[in-house]
Amino acid sequence: MIKLHNTLSGKLEEFKPIKAGEARMYHCGPTVYDYAHIGNLRSYVFADLLRRTFEFSGYEVTQVVNITDIGHLTSDADTGDDKMVKGLKRENLPLTLEGLKELADKYEKAFKDDLVALNIERPQHFPRATAYLTQEIALIKTLEEKGYAYKLADGLYFDTGRLKSYGRLGGLTPMSESQARVGGAEKKSPRDFVLWKLSADNHLGFHSPWGTGFPGWHIECSAMSRALLHQPFDVHTGGVDHIPVHHNNEIAQSEAAYDTPLANFWLHNEFVTVAAPSTELGVNKMAKSEGNFITLKALQEKGFSPLAYRYFLLMAHYRTPVTFSWEALEAASNAFEKLKRFVGPLSAINEVDEAYKAKFKEKIENDLNTAQALAVLWTLVKDKEVTPENKLATLLDFDKVLGLGLK
Ligand code: AMP
Ligand code: ZN
Repeated sequence: MIKLHNTLSGKLEEFKPIKAGEARMYHCGPTVYDYAHIGNLRSYVFADLLRRTFEFSGYEVTQVVNITDIGHLTSDADTGDDKMVKGLKRENLPLTLEGLKELADKYEKAFKDDLVALNIERPQHFPRATAYLTQEIALIKTLEEKGYAYKLADGLYFDTGRLKSYGRLGGLTPMSESQARVGGAEKKSPRDFVLWKLSADNHLGFHSPWGTGFPGWHIECSAMSRALLHQPFDVHTGGVDHIPVHHNNEIAQSEAAYDTPLANFWLHNEFVTVAAPSTELGVNKMAKSEGNFITLKALQEKGFSPLAYRYFLLMAHYRTPVTFSWEALEAASNAFEKLKRFVGPLSAINEVDEAYKAKFKEKIENDLNTAQALAVLWTLVKDKEVTPENKLATLLDFDKVLGLGLK
């Protein structure tokens, strides 16, 4: 029995699939305007771990990781520039659809290379937002027909005030009247968000019933997940930063349009943070905007293997923040090398030790407790009662979930 912490209920719940034996999952993917940093990559190591855990327990898994190639503004709350436009300017690419494609191709490839390096099993679908315009526009039309949308000078907005259930995820508190009045521009509420954004200069955009522009970031995920996984599907994931805005907005649109939940389980991984150099007061989220981001490539250039970083992540539960430092990575890397040195010389293989497997499974099926699962692994390594042949079989079995490439 797999138990998962569902952000929707705030509780640990037994996983019950919609269709027996199947788990259908949507993971919010990267905005491909720059390289992913190792914080972003934690989201996909986590998604992979979830997939492998389901597979270990006999489920057939379908995974979607979207590629956001337009519509994600610098602030998640729909202000600032489009991140892709920012990328085009940075790289001196033309502000055209061709330029957009070139930028997206470059960073989508870099992202997929990172996934391979981290031994992440390939998701079946990587939909691009601009390839699902038909579905995105259809969804917005439905919302408009049902009275959930209103027009402003720069686009069409979702009226969160029309939806009683808005903000369930993470328990958003209702806004006080004074908060509600300091809305952005002319929005009815600061929490209202863009469904279709009109292009500022008509240079870059797509045709729609509301004018040339592009879909809002949230509508993209609502439309692509429904198109590829149907609605409702089983599990939706992302980093904790997506809880208040992006995921509440996805839920609002999808439920308002189709009167059925979007997903049954909402799971969120915590951040990778870095010690704040100047304050001593704690840590900062790793983010492009903080200027403190480290790529997988930078890590490799310092001689670390991507799988050592994977091991580093597995040492913590996905719902605990981890502070990245080179020293901490070094320690993880040493432990990982020790494990490889142990497995390396073993070649004869026998049966899996069922008692250890049961312990491992119990940890991993308890909301993916990889920290405790690794403790079981090390106890096995040191156990003199288990033969090397059984150890090898059992470790390789564990590795189906851990994905450390021990084979
Ligand atoms: P983005 O490309 O900004 O949409 O982010 C891709 C994924 O990375 C999302 O699931 C974010 O929630 C997640 N994310 C962003 N920053 C971090 C961080 N420092 N640690 C862990 N996950 C993060
Ligand atoms: Zn999303």
